[in-house]
Amino acid sequence: PRMVRNALFTYVPPMPAEEPELLGVSKAALRSIGLSEDQADSDEFKQVVAGNKFYWKENGDDKQGEGIYPWAQCYGGFQFGQWAGQLGDGRAISLFETTNPQTGVRYEWQLKGAGKTPYSRFADGRAVLRSSIREFVVSEYLNAIGIPTTRALSLTLLPKVDVVRERLEPGAIVCRFAQSWLRIGTFDLMRSRGDRENIRKVATYAAEEVFGGWDKLPSRLTDVDDEQKPQNDSHLDPSRNVPKDDLQGPESHEQNRFARLYREIVRRNAKTVAAWQAYGFMNGVLNTDNTSIFGLSLDFGPFAFMDNFDPSHTPNHDDMMLRYAYRAQPTIIWWNLVRLGESLGELIGSGERVDQETFVTNGVEEDFAPILIKRAENVIDAAGEEYKAVFLSEYRRLMTARLGLKTQKESDFDSLISNALDTMEALELDFNHFFRRLSSVKVGDIATKEGREEKAKIFAHSEGVTGLNETEGTLKEKVGEWLEQWRARTIEDWGEGEDADTEREKAMKSINPNFVPRGWLLDEVIQRVEKQKDRKILSTVMEMTLNPFADGWANDEELEKRYVGDLPRMKRSIQCSCSS
Ligand code: AMP
Ligand code: MG
Ligand code: MG
Repeated sequence: PRMVRNALFTYVPPMPAEEPELLGVSKAALRSIGLSEDQADSDEFKQVVAGNKFYWKENGDDKQGEGIYPWAQCYGGFQFGQWAGQLGDGRAISLFETTNPQTGVRYEWQLKGAGKTPYSRFADGRAVLRSSIREFVVSEYLNAIGIPTTRALSLTLLPKVDVVRERLEPGAIVCRFAQSWLRIGTFDLMRSRGDRENIRKVATYAAEEVFGGWDKLPSRLTDVDDEQKPQNDSHLDPSRNVPKDDLQGPESHEQNRFARLYREIVRRNAKTVAAWQAYGFMNGVLNTDNTSIFGLSLDFGPFAFMDNFDPSHTPNHDDMMLRYAYRAQPTIIWWNLVRLGESLGELIGSGERVDQETFVTNGVEEDFAPILIKRAENVIDAAGEEYKAVFLSEYRRLMTARLGLKTQKESDFDSLISNALDTMEALELDFNHFFRRLSSVKVGDIATKEGREEKAKIFAHSEGVTGLNETEGTLKEKVGEWLEQWRARTIEDWGEGEDADTEREKAMKSINPNFVPRGWLLDEVIQRVEKQKDRKILSTVMEMTLNPFADGWANDEELEKRYVGDLPRMKRSIQCSCSS
């Protein structure tokens, strides 16, 4: 372990694995990569994903060779708001890049848990089976429900590796891939060292190689009208509604290409965090080193999906200040993006001049610095408005669809959606079940007050009717009232009758998952794989993970029913700690 300066990666081989056991491969991940299931069945594949084979051949004794030598990335980061210095891939090693010949998409393959790197600091470079199962499942689940994320190709058990945590645990390796593993922390580190030349190099690399060229970046200026600027900080504030059209402004001639790169990164992250909010996903550790340049969900430690709707819930046991709670996520991602704006300050603040190669290498003239800082601030401010607008537009789009509506109306946001959330919160209803169960409600069944009150019961937890403080009466009344409002909007969009119900149910069930990999459920899978050597459970759960919208999977009916049913008592809102 050491400080690595003037470089952003180090060549390092994975530790050879003894008797690796391949526990699971994601079929969806194979498809994305462009590999067949037969290819994944080969010994070569198993050796690669276990860290036993990489594609480098030495020729002669001068340490020259051919092929691709594995590497680990160097980055830094702000952890819980504090500058933490150099971090880097302490237990992740990249192997190579591959391009899917059908889609043309290029991915960087990486092994997590394959041993120490120069960035391991005081730790062991390992990952335990417990956290590897969690990462394997959630990566593929997020992808299945349409949320940008790093992917997980395979899970390999290392039976000969004992990892010391609170107890001794078996080690494992997840082979994962992403279009980019660059993080905001990559730029933080260069900035902390005043490494202006490399900031420019990596930003250029990101634009040209990761995003596919400068011409792929947004060229239009966002025109968020003053009138529509948000009035306060609640992300559910209806005054933040910015119609989609306002995201398009006149063609800009003033914005330099690095400002456009910054905006693209901002926009991608806005969309991703909007999807997290709409699906109740909580990352749990949104440090800048865990925030992707490509807008991917990244680093799955103490993540969780919302059970009972509680906006101040954090899945992270160590997050006393609730910095990374559900409701804080949009703000925190923006906080991180401002750090990136600062790192790119010189580039985004330079107007047209930065496009001339000479500018950065010649350095900033002293009297030009205040102008440059002001300009960079303006770019960041404008990107902040764009962040809010893109976030809201995506959040509204998803929530509207989750409620089964085809059109968007102003009142949906400040009334229908916020009433749904308020009701869920007050009655401690299950966030995910709410949408899935709503999908099957027929408007004819909720035409009367009695009908609505009867239907209200399906949203309650079977064991105790509803949350801790509420009675069945309140449930019927509050959910009943909401259903009346929802019914009117549904009829506006779909009309009435059996066909309309069927069509809407189908649409809603294709966006509201039946299966959600909740904390208690993952714990149970982990127990069974680890303690009972159960190998079937993982494939059952992966089947559900890759097809989360299905009505059934016909694999293990009893278990499936339990996994999509009401939460067992005392299993709600499990928290975990970061280091695993
Ligand atoms: P995280 O909290 O997962 O974002 O990790 C923060 C930093 O600690 C990253 O640089 C990780 O690579 C590093 N790290 C976490 N766990 C380990 C481990 N077991 N061995 C080496 N480095 C680790
Ligand atoms: Mg991390
Ligand atoms: Mg981590």
